Amino acid sequence: MPSSKTRIAIIGGGVAGLVVARHATTKLDRYSLTLFEQTDQVGGTWVYTDETDVDSHGLPIHSSMYKNLRTNLPQEIMQIPDFPLKENEGPSFVHHTVIRQYLRDYAKHFNLYPHIKLNTLVKHVEPETLRNGQTIWMVTYEDLEGKVETTKTFDAVVVCNGHYTVGHVPHIPGIESFPGGSIHSHQYRVPEVYAKKKVCILGASWSGIDIALEVSEYAEKIYLSHNLPKPVDSVMAKNVEQRPGIQSVQGNVFIFNDGSMAEVDSFIYCTGYEFTYPFMSTKVEMRTENNQVEPFYKHLIHIDYPSLFVMGLPAIVIPFPMFHIQAQYILAILEGFIKLPSAKQMREASEAEKRDLLNQGIPLRHITKLKERQWAYYDEMAKAANVRGFPPVIKKIYDHSNAMRELDFTTYKNYQYRIIDDENFVACYCKPC
Ligand SMILES: Cc1cc2nc3c(=O)[nH]c(=O)nc-3n(C[C@H](O)[C@H](O)[C@H](O)COP(=O)(O)OP(=O)(O)OC[C@H]3O[C@@H](n4cnc5c(N)ncnc54)[C@H](O)[C@@H]3O)c2cc1C
Repeated sequence: MPSSKTRIAIIGGGVAGLVVARHATTKLDRYSLTLFEQTDQVGGTWVYTDETDVDSHGLPIHSSMYKNLRTNLPQEIMQIPDFPLKENEGPSFVHHTVIRQYLRDYAKHFNLYPHIKLNTLVKHVEPETLRNGQTIWMVTYEDLEGKVETTKTFDAVVVCNGHYTVGHVPHIPGIESFPGGSIHSHQYRVPEVYAKKKVCILGASWSGIDIALEVSEYAEKIYLSHNLPKPVDSVMAKNVEQRPGIQSVQGNVFIFNDGSMAEVDSFIYCTGYEFTYPFMSTKVEMRTENNQVEPFYKHLIHIDYPSLFVMGLPAIVIPFPMFHIQAQYILAILEGFIKLPSAKQMREASEAEKRDLLNQGIPLRHITKLKERQWAYYDEMAKAANVRGFPPVIKKIYDHSNAMRELDFTTYKNYQYRIIDDENFVACYCKPC
C-alpha cells in the first residue's frame, strides 16, 4: 500500500539522529519516522562506558569517550540552537556526562521516544527503483533482545551512525615486535594505567593532544609523535617531548623519521577514524577512501540517490548546530522546497569544489575538514532551507576559544563565555577546576 506520508528511516540515536527526528516530528501529518538505535539508550558517543571491547549484545563498543573528557567547545556554541544547555557557574567546557544528560533531555522534551526503536540494529539498507522511477529503501533491522529480524520500506534514509568508532590504524613497520600494550584512542579511558611508563602517542590532533595532556600527569615520559609541519608550540607539560612520525619499531625501541630513537612501554594511536557503513547495499556505491565519503553533494546528499543522506560528514565544525541546519535542509529537500540540481550538475559542482581546494594546496584527505569554510556552509544551507543561520557571535566565540587553545592547551577550557547579543560576548577566566 503506498503511504501518503514520507517514511523516513533514521539510523543512529546520537545527536545527529535525534536532531533529524526532532524536526521531522514537527510535521507528523507529513512524515512517519523510525529512528533505529542499536544500544539501549540515546546519546551515541556521549554514552560513556568503561568497556572497550563489546557491549551486552556482543557488538563493538560504540563510544569513544574517556572518563575525564570535557568538551573541546564551549557550551554556548556547542549546544543545539533551539535547546540551550543550562548555564552553569563554572567553565563553559563541561564534562561529557552533562552532554549525555542534555541529549536525553532533548529526546524527552521533543517527545522523540515514541519514534525510537532502542536495541535495534540496522543490518542492511537496499534501494529499489519502482517503475515510476521513484527509489524506495528496504531497511532490514534486528530487534537485538527478541532476536527478530524485520524488513520495512521507507522513502528516505538518513544515516546518522557516527564517525568516531572504527579507528584508523596506519601500518608501522615492525610494530608486531612491540612487546608493550598498544591501543587506539577509541579504547582509551583513564590515564592512571600509564603511571611511571614511557608512552608514545602517535598523532597531535584533538585527541592526541588531549590524551597527552592527561597521561602526562602520570607517565614518566611522553613522546608525542606527529607529522605536522612544525612542532605544536602551545604550552605542554615538561615530560612531553615532540618527535616526528614513526619510521619503524624494533621491540620496545621506536625509531622516528629524524633517526632519533626512544624506548617505549605503551603506545596509543591517535590517528583518527574510518568512515564505515557496513549495512549499506553495494548498489549505492558509497566509497570511503582518502578520508572522504563519495559521491555526495554538499557533504550530505547522495548524488545518485538523493533520498539518501549522511549526516555529519564535515569535520572541524560545530557539530550539534551543524546537524540542526543539515536536518532542516534535508526536510526542505523532501518537501520539494529545495530543488536539487541534476545528478550530473551535482557531480560537477562537487568535483569543482574539490579541484578548487586542491588548487589551494589542500590535500584530498583534508577536504571534509571545513574549518574556516564552515561558516559559509551553514549560511548557504540555512538560506536555502529558509531557516535562521547563526549570529556572528557564534563564530566570534569559536575564534576566541581556538585562539586561547593555541596559546595554551592546558588552560583554554577554564574560560566561561556568556553571549550578550548576536554580536557580543564576554569571556572570563575561571579558577582551574
Ligand atoms: C572523544 C570525542 C570527543 C568529542 N568531543 C566533542 C566536543 O567536545 N564537542 C563536539 O561538539 N563534538 C565532539 N565530538 C564529536 C562528536 O562525535 C559529535 O559531536 C557528535 O556526538 C556526533 O554525533 P552523531 O550522532 O553523528 O554520532 P554518534 O554520537 O556516534 O551516534 C551514532 C549512533 O548510531 C548508532 N548506530 C551506529 N550504527 C548503527 C546501526 N547499524 N544500527 C543502529 N544504530 C546504529 C550508535 O550506537 C550511536 O548511538 C567528540 C567526539 C569524540 C569521539
